[in-house]
Amino acid sequence: MRGRCRRAARQPGNRGAYLLLLSLSDSTTIAVGGLGRLQFRCGNYIYVGSAMGGLEARVARHLRPKKRLHWHIDRLLARASIVGAVMFPSRKRQECSLAKTIHKSPKTAALARFGSTDCGCPSHLFYIGKRPFGGMLRMLDRTQIGGPGPSSRGWAD
Ligand SMILES: [Zn+2]
Repeated sequence: MRGRCRRAARQPGNRGAYLLLLSLSDSTTIAVGGLGRLQFRCGNYIYVGSAMGGLEARVARHLRPKKRLHWHIDRLLARASIVGAVMFPSRKRQECSLAKTIHKSPKTAALARFGSTDCGCPSHLFYIGKRPFGGMLRMLDRTQIGGPGPSSRGWAD
């Protein structure tokens, strides 16, 4: 064994933040509650959410095809397919710092106020075009989970 465990040292419990990796096969317009009708271009999206009580249950809910439409993301999920989900178990709220990190990365477009009407972030939904998710996930792993890490950012394709 060398070094310390990079993930949470203590049992974080079933709470934390998550990412949904989404793909939309056609450009479309979707009515998203109070945000009105929004244009969604075809391509890949990353949504940042959190569940401070029941992380796995929340992600499982997103994966269920039939459910009441409650959050902004539910409206998009009715049309987009979920490519993957990544959980970040933690006692701390990491959702907004994850969203800010994604927002700062180049070639990423935020969909204004989507999923962030309660927290004041510009958005919790990001369009990454046709790019694969891998580069973004590696960047988040360095900057969020692995501590300060290297300062370089970008897509490792
Ligand atoms: Zn936020």
